Amino acid sequence: MIEININNKENEICRNLGEKAIHLLNKTIIDISNCSDDDLVYELVHIQIVIELMLKYYISVFYGFDNILNKKHKNIKDHDPVAYLNNLNCTTIHTLGYMELVVFLEEKKDFFGYVVKDGVIPFYVAEYDYLHDTFRKFQDIRNNYVHLGIDLGIIEHKWIRDEYYEVVLVFLSSIMRKIDERNGIDRLILFDNNDLDDTPVDVLKRCLTNAAFNSIRSKSYIIDRLVEIAEDASDMMGSYKCRGCSEETLVLNILDSEGISKCFYCGDFFQAAYTHCAICNSTGTVTFDDLNIGCNGNVMSGYCYECETRVKVYKCPICGNIYTYSRDGVIEGYIDDCCLESFLDRDVS
Ligand SMILES: [Zn+2]
Ligand SMILES: [Zn+2]
Ligand SMILES: [Zn+2]
Repeated sequence: MIEININNKENEICRNLGEKAIHLLNKTIIDISNCSDDDLVYELVHIQIVIELMLKYYISVFYGFDNILNKKHKNIKDHDPVAYLNNLNCTTIHTLGYMELVVFLEEKKDFFGYVVKDGVIPFYVAEYDYLHDTFRKFQDIRNNYVHLGIDLGIIEHKWIRDEYYEVVLVFLSSIMRKIDERNGIDRLILFDNNDLDDTPVDVLKRCLTNAAFNSIRSKSYIIDRLVEIAEDASDMMGSYKCRGCSEETLVLNILDSEGISKCFYCGDFFQAAYTHCAICNSTGTVTFDDLNIGCNGNVMSGYCYECETRVKVYKCPICGNIYTYSRDGVIEGYIDDCCLESFLDRDVS
């Protein structure tokens, strides 16, 4: 019986850690967009609390509640369950501090231990040092303020705003996604590669309030970073303008994804076939419906993401060669006779 009570209480505290982390994150995201540089240190302290709560929640979920207890309370739990339950009920248990949590993760060779220690975050095929020295500086600033009342230097203001969003976008979204996976949160499975399946923006959209999500999504810093991530993930070595949200964050024909494109900003995605563009001469930037072109007179509408133009796509029913041409133009340079003989233009508007 006592074990069940302990279990229930530990689960309740564990849930609380996650809920409070998200609650404070929502609040600080709204607050930082309105706060002056003079008040920036509060948001830094808040995001540092979010990181600490989130790490504690993560360790509870993945390694068990015991591992966030300090030595003394771990000992009480092992030897005197009644006293331990009493401590839990009176919330007088003591847990590990920020640095101890990080050391625990490092000793476990945990992914996030590595991220916090080295400031390197893997995304898709590469690793990025976006968070180089960020966690140490955040903790130093937090300690200086909390223990000595030392405020930020002017030079730190811009740095903190950028790093703040970086931490939310690449770090907190990663840890929240991992926890969601462990907790079995249902979500759309598109690709084998999780980074692309559930992008940072997807995670933030799912976990944050609408107000916090819209606030963070409107930051130019976030958009610039998403463009960079999209470029890295793209087979085309570039990202394109999304027709849903108009940001340049669409990854066209993601590597190994069987023709899926996805916008890293608004989350829109689609599956298509890709071909060259006869208008702007770029390769693989015209999307079209390869499955239905045969039953649509071999001519269908396509769209080129490079020149942002609607084009016509013709697929020869005999040999399968594909041609694009302008909507009021003609096809030039047939590869084979069968293509010329089978071609019959039609209105696809
Ligand atoms: Zn979009
Ligand atoms: Zn084009
Ligand atoms: Zn042909």
